[in-house]
Parts: sequence; structure tokens; C-alpha cells
Amino acid sequence: MKSFKELEKIIDRIDGKSYKSYKQLQGQYQFPNFILSIDYVQGDPFASPSRIRVTVPGNKSGFSSGLYDTSYKKKAVVDFLSRVVGENIYKHYENVGGSGKSGLLSIGHCGQEILERNYIIIDEKIVEARLTVGLPAEGRRILGNKAKTIFFEALPKIVESSLFFNAISQEDLLKQINLLEDQAYLRKEIEKRELVAFIANGSIIPRQSGVSQKPMRKGVVPFLSPKEYEIDINLPNQGTIKGMGIPEGVTLIVGGGFHGKSTILKALELGVYDHILGDGREYIVIRENAVKIKSEDGRKVEKVNIYPFINNLPMGEDTKRFSTENASGSTSQAANIMEALEIGTDLLLIDEDTSATNFMIRDGRMQKLVQKEKEPITPFIDKVRTLYEKNGVSTVLVIGGSGDYFEVADHVIMMDEYHPKDMTKEAKDIVEEIKYQRKIDEVTLIKDDTPRTLLKSSFFTGRKGVKIKSRGIDTITYNKMDIELRNLEQLIHSDQTNTISFIIKYIMDNIANDKRTLKEAVDKVYEEMNTKGLDTVSPYQGNPGNMALPRKYEIAATLNRFRNLKIK
Ligand code: ADP
Ligand code: MG
Repeated sequence: MKSFKELEKIIDRIDGKSYKSYKQLQGQYQFPNFILSIDYVQGDPFASPSRIRVTVPGNKSGFSSGLYDTSYKKKAVVDFLSRVVGENIYKHYENVGGSGKSGLLSIGHCGQEILERNYIIIDEKIVEARLTVGLPAEGRRILGNKAKTIFFEALPKIVESSLFFNAISQEDLLKQINLLEDQAYLRKEIEKRELVAFIANGSIIPRQSGVSQKPMRKGVVPFLSPKEYEIDINLPNQGTIKGMGIPEGVTLIVGGGFHGKSTILKALELGVYDHILGDGREYIVIRENAVKIKSEDGRKVEKVNIYPFINNLPMGEDTKRFSTENASGSTSQAANIMEALEIGTDLLLIDEDTSATNFMIRDGRMQKLVQKEKEPITPFIDKVRTLYEKNGVSTVLVIGGSGDYFEVADHVIMMDEYHPKDMTKEAKDIVEEIKYQRKIDEVTLIKDDTPRTLLKSSFFTGRKGVKIKSRGIDTITYNKMDIELRNLEQLIHSDQTNTISFIIKYIMDNIANDKRTLKEAVDKVYEEMNTKGLDTVSPYQGNPGNMALPRKYEIAATLNRFRNLKIK
């Protein structure tokens, strides 16, 4: 290892030279309080910024192992310190500027959710932050003094104010650890009580706007449970909280337009993740494997059994191994459900707003006009009970338009000016009162155990090999082919998408063997990340790039949308 003085010398030597000379910085440097590792140096000022790490020895940093000895604590501490580093970059560093990405200095961005991330590593040996830096240049000429400002002025201050236990707000850290302990407890508790979701009284559900996930401030109506569903839960730190428990089964959220139905479903969808203090959704939790189901016309489907929902197609196509490059509204929605069941889910979330009508319902009059033999679709209304009773999969549905669903629901909750009310009895009375001629179209059970074996030939290599890259949250490109993820509403962070892009490469190189099924491949990679850490799947040495853990479902969903996916 070199001394920081050596780094200074190199920078002086390459000052004013062409950008490529920055490559000489690669290496490790001992600073008085930390080690700086310059792992990857960008090729020019416009390319992805350089990746570095700053590492403090565990015995100097002062974090006791009791702060990170369980998975939820570790997640809490890593997330917390990531935010602290972010704040201290802002506080102690003014962008020195230059061409392109010159002067950028950042750590991964943390939003409203607390995710498992790799921006910080903490264990008995080290506390380490992974940063990216745009090495400064004017045109392609190295700006040595500006580089020195970053390394010798900003970095030491950022490290000293962030990676030492005595420098940070210990109280806030403890609060976040306690919050995560409570959230972890709450998740276990809802399962124990056979609930699929819990929304605490006082939760702030709506967000500021379509582009801000911060809580709405003005004119917001805090959540209050209907008495019929109100339960107490005694949390280890927060003490007793009250709120609405949504039981297993089929639950409808009904109500007039603009009364807050979709907003509540959205909050439930994201209840698979933990939220930071002050978010308003801290105590909204849902089964972790819950999946939002949408209609997604145009998507690719590869050998999925959609027979339970769609059979007897006019062209005689096989729907037990259904493939298409361009699914319709209803076939895509059927495929989305079957793929969710394949990975394993306890709960489907469906909003009428984003569903195919003919997939959801076929009313009595339409049944009379178009005979069953002429209609390939068995609507969801005829499957939702089977799903629960035979497969143990609950559904929460937002329904504004179709009262036929009253008949199959266990619970009906009406949103009335953002207040939920129990309307189960009223809805059931209406079913009795207005007898209505609708036949049940039920044909088959739903669960399908036909294995979908993942073929290695899915992963074609171009002339220059394989390049898989994420762009924002919604797109991964595989060589030149886009994988479109816009419809995965529970994929919420671009670093989750980045991680999925690494995972696809990892599955291609290490896991796909023409024997494992798609589910087994996802399980396997997940298990490896769980035992060896997120970094395992990164193709990079040193600073592995910003990663945040995606769920199994979103990994599988990405493979399922990959247009070259091949299933045996
Ligand atoms: P629906 O799906 O019932 O038509 P939405 O959920 O789209 O209604 O909500 C309509 C509007 O009401 C949205 O702009 C949303 O931000 C706002 N809203 C939802 N819940 C609340 C609440 N609890 N307090 C204040 N405004 C809310
Ligand atoms: Mg709506």
C-alpha cells in the first residue's frame, strides 16, 4: 500500500496531461484515518464516474458488533450510514466542476424505503463506504488541483464525520434500528394472525405528487381503521399501535372515483418494503411476497401455462405452454398471475384501473349472448375463490365498477372521502336482494407444477460477448435488446435494477445449466446473495457498483420479460 503522499505526487505529475493518465491513480493509499482504494478509473470525463472506497478499521471506527448482529440491524445501520455519508458529502464538498461528470462525488441514493444495500460495509474488521467520483478535467486535460481538493480536503472530512461512531447521531441510529426491529416484528405478527396486511392508524398514505414519494402535507386525511378490523399490536419498541388488519381471503376495496382506492393499494404494494421514520408508511406492512398484477399488453410470454384462465383459443393454440411475442391485455394478465404463483406468493394485488375488463369479469347478459364454448377466457372472478381456498393465495382488489365481485368477496371495504368503512354486510345483502343470473365459468384448478426449465441458449453472445446494463429503474439492455420493466410497480430503485442486471449475467455464467428451472435459478442466486452478500453477483472487483436487493419476484419477472428467454 502506498502513502497518501504518493497519491499527491502522482497527481502533481499528471496535472494538465491527458485524461488517460488518471489510470495511474488506481491502487490503495493509506491516509491518517482511513484507506482510500481507487478501484476503477473512468476512461474519459463523460464516461461513468470512477469507483472508489474509503475504509476505516473496525477497531478505530467504534461501532460495536451489537449494532449489526442481526440481519434487520445490519440493514438499518448500512442504510443509515449511507444517508449520513450522503448528507456529509453535501455538507463538506462543493462540486469542483469541470467537463462532463468532472467533480461529481456521490454515494448511492436512498429514498423513502430502507433496502438492503451495499453502499456501506460494516463488520468487525471494517467500516467502508463505496463512492463514485468524476475525476476532474477541462476538456480532456487533467485538473490536478481539483482532484486534490476532492481527495485531500473533502474525503477526510466526509470520512471523519460519517464512519466513526462518535461523530454520528447515535440517537438517530438507534431510532432507525428500533424502527426496523418493530417493522420486522410486525411482518411476523401479521402472518401469525393470518392477516395479509396491516395499516396503522395515523398512517399518511398519499404522496406529494406523481414524481415525489415524500408524504403529502396539505389537506391529508390520516388513516383510521374501521372498528370491525381494528386490532392492537404490541411492538417491541414503539409499544402498542392500533390499525387495520386485512384478513386472508378475498378483500374488495370499493368506493367512488377519487375517494382514495388506488392510493391505498399503492401503499399496500410498497408495504413489502420498510420505510424511514417520518415517511407516514412506517407501519404499513404486507406479506413480503405480495405481487401487484396488471394487464401488460405487448409483453413477451414464454411457455407459461395460462390454461386456468384462457383455453380453447380460435386457432387451437396450446395454452398450457403458451408463448407470444405480443400478449393481449387478458393473456398478459393471466401470465402475470401464473408467473407470480410459480415464484410463490400469498397475495395478489389488483387494481381495476390497470386490468383488462374481459379478464376481470363477464356478466350474466354477456354470458347469454356469447356462449362459454365461444369464449376462451375464464374471468378472474371465477378463479379468485379457488385461488384462496385451494392454493391459499389471497387477493386484495380495487373495484369501482363491478358489483358481481360482492358475491365472491370475504370482505368489502368502502373508501369514503379517504375513510375506509366496512360494507361487507351491505354488499352481501345486495347480493341476496338483487339475485342475478351469472353462471360460474370455473373449469380447472389453478396451481401448475409443470417445471419451466431455463435454457442456457437464452443467453446469446454477440461478437463482443455480452453486455448487460441497466438504465434507470425501468430498463435493462442485453446487448442491444431492451428488457422493459415499467410495469413492475414494486421495483422501486434503480440500484435494484442494476443488481438485477448483474444477476442475469451471474445466472448466465454460473447457474443456468439446462436443468434448473427458472424458479430454481432465482432461488439459487438469492441464496448465494444471502449467505455471501450482495457483492457476490457483481462482475467488478473492489467497489462493486451500487446495489440494492431486489425481490425474487422482480428477478423472475425480468427474465420472463427478456425477449430471448428460452424455456425447455
Ligand atoms: P380512486 O382510485 O378512488 O379513484 P385515488 O386513490 O386515485 O382515487 O385518489 C384520488 C386523489 O386523492 C389522489 O390525488 C390522492 O393523492 C388523493 N388522496 C388519496 N388519499 C388521500 C388522503 N388520505 N388524504 C388526502 N388526499 C388523498
Ligand atoms: Mg383508482
